[in-house]
Amino acid sequence: MWSATPSRTQTHQATTMATLVTIWIRKTLMPTFCIHLVGHAPEFIPLREDDLVVSNVPYRLGDYRLQGFHIHYGGDIGGENAGVRTSHGGSEHAVNGVRFDGELHVVLINRKYQDIRDAETRTDGLVVLVFFIKTAPSTTDPRAAEFSQFLETNIPVIANHDVNVSVAINLGMFLDRQCDFYTYAGSLTTPLCHESVRWVIFEEPLTVTETAWQTLAGLQGHGAHGNCRGIQPLNDRLIKANFQPQRTTTTQAPVRERYFVILTY
Ligand SMILES: [Zn+2]
Repeated sequence: MWSATPSRTQTHQATTMATLVTIWIRKTLMPTFCIHLVGHAPEFIPLREDDLVVSNVPYRLGDYRLQGFHIHYGGDIGGENAGVRTSHGGSEHAVNGVRFDGELHVVLINRKYQDIRDAETRTDGLVVLVFFIKTAPSTTDPRAAEFSQFLETNIPVIANHDVNVSVAINLGMFLDRQCDFYTYAGSLTTPLCHESVRWVIFEEPLTVTETAWQTLAGLQGHGAHGNCRGIQPLNDRLIKANFQPQRTTTTQAPVRERYFVILTY
């Protein structure tokens, strides 16, 4: 399984985009996915990759098709710490030092490359849409309720590694939301560490109920530590935002000049 270098995002280090760009996301309303376990993580693989096509990604040319999506979650669920929540959750990115409970990655491949093995070695090979996940005792948000119900229904079914399920998924649960995001160029952490990922990190988190989130704990058994990677130093990565990030106490907030628009159709 490929992996990527996550980074600590500080809003005062985010600069604004220089040009106006519209990201186009073309999706089939309810594409069908095969769900199975890879390690302790559920993987969601589309039966038809063209059910989601993304164009005009910042700093990238051409179209990107869906490879699949997966969820990262922390070691503070399941095992000895079942039910415990800390500010150090299972997201792989942190915003101003704060991690969320989890992170959903929608992995996209440049259409001109054959598969992910080919794409991950190319400088323009991959795009990952990132949605933070926060947990709540309950929710009145229809998208959150749908996502929670989806996890509760399907995750226990695949707890056995021998089981796959095919299920139609409403991608609107993730994609129909506010379009504020951060973006930066990142690398893989697998050997050779190719600089092939354009990360697009949405500001508005997904909400999942506690009950639904605990279904992920059932996948890892006792003593496991989730499947999230530790936060990495930002180094010289340039974070850009299409919105005005919150001013921090010690730095000037960047001025927003223009911003991206995301359209789904
Ligand atoms: Zn991931």
